[in-house]
Amino acid sequence: MLNQVLTMWIVDQQRLGNKAPRPNGARVTDCPACKHLVGRCRLSARHVLEDCVAVRAARERLGINAFFFDCEEIGVDAADAFYYYLNGMDIRGGEIPVSFHLLRGDAILELQEEWLAQWDS
Ligand SMILES: [Zn+2]
Repeated sequence: MLNQVLTMWIVDQQRLGNKAPRPNGARVTDCPACKHLVGRCRLSARHVLEDCVAVRAARERLGINAFFFDCEEIGVDAADAFYYYLNGMDIRGGEIPVSFHLLRGDAILELQEEWLAQWDS
């Protein structure tokens, strides 16, 4: 299950509604979760994982922000940090144990569910 979540994110086929309609038929190009907070913002996986303000608290609680902050602190660019996070690497690009990688799958799933709960019904 968590492997599947990670795979969907790695191949950029998360069920966010930007690539294919949600089960309720909703298809979105701008982020529907934060538009009332910050205005129009193009929806992408990176937007949800890195900076959607609608799920900022969830990212902090799940430790996702800390990973990206630590990457930024040592000069890892955001695209590499995104790749490292999804592909089971630490902030220097070294492999992490599978169990830790699966915890990230769990965090992403929870983040995705909280993000969807903001607007998808
Ligand atoms: Zn957003």
